[in-house]
Amino acid sequence: MAAEFFTMGVRELQAGLKSKQFSAVEIADAALERIGGQDERIHAFLEVTDQAAHQAAQAVDAAIAEGKGADLGPLAGVPVAYKDNMNLEGTHTTCSSNMLADYVSPFTATCVQRTLQAGALPLGKLNMDEFAFGSSTETSAFGPTLNPWDPSRVPGGSSGGSAAAVAAGLATVTLGSDTGGSIRQPGSFCGVVAVKPTYGVVSRYGVVAFGSSLDQVGPFARSVEDAALTLNAIAGHDPLDCTSQAVATDFTANLAEGAAGMRIGIVPAFMQAEGLQPEVKAKITEAAEKLEALGAQLVEVELPNAQAAMSAYYVLGPCEAFSNLSRFDSVRYGFRDPGHKDLGSQYEASRAKGFGPEARRRIMLGSYLLSAGVYDRYYYPAQQVRTLITADYTAAFERCDCILAPTAPRTAFEFGEISDPTSMYLSDMFTISINIAGNGGMSMPVGLGAESGLPIGAQLISPAFKDQNMLRAAAALETVYGPAPIAPAFAPKAGE
Ligand code: GLN
Repeated sequence: MAAEFFTMGVRELQAGLKSKQFSAVEIADAALERIGGQDERIHAFLEVTDQAAHQAAQAVDAAIAEGKGADLGPLAGVPVAYKDNMNLEGTHTTCSSNMLADYVSPFTATCVQRTLQAGALPLGKLNMDEFAFGSSTETSAFGPTLNPWDPSRVPGGSSGGSAAAVAAGLATVTLGSDTGGSIRQPGSFCGVVAVKPTYGVVSRYGVVAFGSSLDQVGPFARSVEDAALTLNAIAGHDPLDCTSQAVATDFTANLAEGAAGMRIGIVPAFMQAEGLQPEVKAKITEAAEKLEALGAQLVEVELPNAQAAMSAYYVLGPCEAFSNLSRFDSVRYGFRDPGHKDLGSQYEASRAKGFGPEARRRIMLGSYLLSAGVYDRYYYPAQQVRTLITADYTAAFERCDCILAPTAPRTAFEFGEISDPTSMYLSDMFTISINIAGNGGMSMPVGLGAESGLPIGAQLISPAFKDQNMLRAAAALETVYGPAPIAPAFAPKAGE
């Protein structure tokens, strides 16, 4: 039995717990043992929290023993792990940076806390690009995560550890964060369900900030239902994050409705974009046809300003990152280069040594863009572009319930294959405009590329606070493509 826990979804785990086929402690033990045996192959975890997982499991088992099985939380007994920019009291929160290598969280982020309140078993903290700058986990100061489908390739990023852990069956659900594509792009590269809800659905309190007007937390899972159940647990207003909204949506409510009658928007400019790999284009076209066969109506919609999203993002993102990362000053937080006699040289040396090259690039870019004279030429126009893109989406969503697009222009690339920053930034060409406008977006696995044999994700995009639309379309696609498979090298062996 134990060998099968990692293949089970949330409902299956909970049914087994409630009928006392197995205990939460057995689930936790099996998950921790699996991480111990398998994670060295992909390096998804930066820290494993055995004790916390056991404590949570004992609490679930005690509740069941006391006859309170019916009152269990929606994630009771579910193995969950967190991107390492999320605080969990008593664990390291490194953001995969030398700057925070020794930082131990004195508190717990709201999104993490809510999974714990829901009964989740916290397995540990997951690798990422340093401070979430990147699309491959190659900028992690602690070494990259490998793609479970092909260890010579990146898992995507910045939430690469979160995507890889689910794809390898090392956690049932993980949390990641997405500023420009960091949940959806690794979801596509690793072939798992990856949801960036509308900005404001999930509290960002206790999640180390990158771009505060863009950042959003969301789940990775192998089924749409597991992702929706996790969203139900973590969504909603938090007095500690003034951008979080009172969301009363049941994200599972529409999953069984099917695609019939839905209007699915297709953006011709996305499908004809330069750099879109033929095998990705073929899969997204196929997914559109499948939705149509299920009774959806395809409508062409235009997002005329979306091509400016990348330029706006690489102004707004670095400006916000520059401001947010100023707190890592070697006095209150983070790495301190020893032996300096004045504060100026301590700041300079500590920040130069504590941050890696991509973090330094973003900080310098933001510092330049916000300087006197320059500010008016870049920051203001970028905000104006933001207004235009938001208006484009509002107009498009008058004609459709959600939009279908590629998540990423290509399948997972090899380590070192993309070395110049601008090419790396293009990984997010289809995801960034959604953060700019603040609406919902998710990546849904739609099978493997005909040439590469690697996973491909279709992106579904929702109007703001109508995340249930994209989840409904994704669930319809899931009836065709099935739930996300565990990567073959990590799947149960025959007879297990
Ligand atoms: N890859 C994008 C970047 O490097 C997005 C990262 C993210 O969403 N955190 O900024």
